[in-house]
Amino acid sequence: MFNEGKIVIIGASNVGTAVLNKIVDFGLASEVVLIDINEKKCMGESLDTSHATACISSHNIYIHEGDYEDCKDASMIIITAGPSIKPGETPDRLILTKTNCKIMDSVMSQIVRYTKDAIILVVTNPLDVATYYVSANFDYPREKIIGTGTLLETFRLRRILADYYHLDPKLVHGYVLGEHGNSGFVAWSTVDIASLGLGNMDEFFNRDYKLNKGMIEQKIMQVVYDVINLKGCTNTGIAMVACRFIKAIKYNEYTILPMSSILTGEYGIHDVALSLPCMLNNTGIIKKFTPKLTDEEVGKMIASAKSVKFAMKAIEKKTEAVA
Ligand code: NAD
Repeated sequence: MFNEGKIVIIGASNVGTAVLNKIVDFGLASEVVLIDINEKKCMGESLDTSHATACISSHNIYIHEGDYEDCKDASMIIITAGPSIKPGETPDRLILTKTNCKIMDSVMSQIVRYTKDAIILVVTNPLDVATYYVSANFDYPREKIIGTGTLLETFRLRRILADYYHLDPKLVHGYVLGEHGNSGFVAWSTVDIASLGLGNMDEFFNRDYKLNKGMIEQKIMQVVYDVINLKGCTNTGIAMVACRFIKAIKYNEYTILPMSSILTGEYGIHDVALSLPCMLNNTGIIKKFTPKLTDEEVGKMIASAKSVKFAMKAIEKKTEAVA
């Protein structure tokens, strides 16, 4: 039996604390536990955020540092442990493969001692490698392991297109798919704005030039490194992404979002985790969709799979699926 309102966050730095603070702002939990090897930081962060819950506009959420035993009755576990790319480093999340798979090993070995019921949201990069690693190497229900995947890039697509046409980003529909990383791609064949047709927007907005899709895509993929170089990390956008998943699970939404999980033959791809649109409820992933992509987009999906598989060669532990 788990406590529906209890969420455990592993990793209490830029990303973990941003997720914590958004959970508190949105009232998405009744108890949040922070775990980090840096116990001092963990305690400081949980104390600081707990004080915010005394405000009249806040929910009375119990926030505290804890240990893996807290996973026993948690409904969700958010993994944010492990370093990010630092300003000036090679702009490719895949360079984190070796370091962060070791961390996934230590984190997952602990989690499986206490639960197989909680939904696990993987946030740590390289996202698709980490999602594959925790799904393939531990005896845990696959449908309960979700990588945040390209939802963040999909938010960026919405924002950048909305800024271009000067409209509400929530009117932009469609997906960035594949790797949460440099080989991810905009599936333009899925993109629409307000059901008016992306291809008609230049005419509706009296634009002299056609939308430059290549430039938009480049901006989406580059902007993460701009943010890291400007502020030292990315945390606010991903915290909103995590909360979008938490809300979908908490409210049993049956919603469809792009997320990372192990592919089992979609577009002929196996044994690698990538983002596809999937349906989510309070039990985890219940259905994966293979949108009718163009041949060029399918080619990009296959290239994404190759790129992530190549990075996984750096991992010593077995990477073949166990279930
Ligand atoms: P950070 O380096 O500031 O913090 C990492 C934290 O993990 C530290 O507090 C560290 O003590 C902790 N940690 C390390 N090993 C641990 C272990 N074995 N058990 C528990 N805690 C451990 O990194 P950050 O900026 O907070 O980013 C965290 C992760 O999130 C990175 O991998 C980053 O790339 C990723 N990220 C993902 C997305 C996404 O879209 N999925 C977006 C932004 C960042």
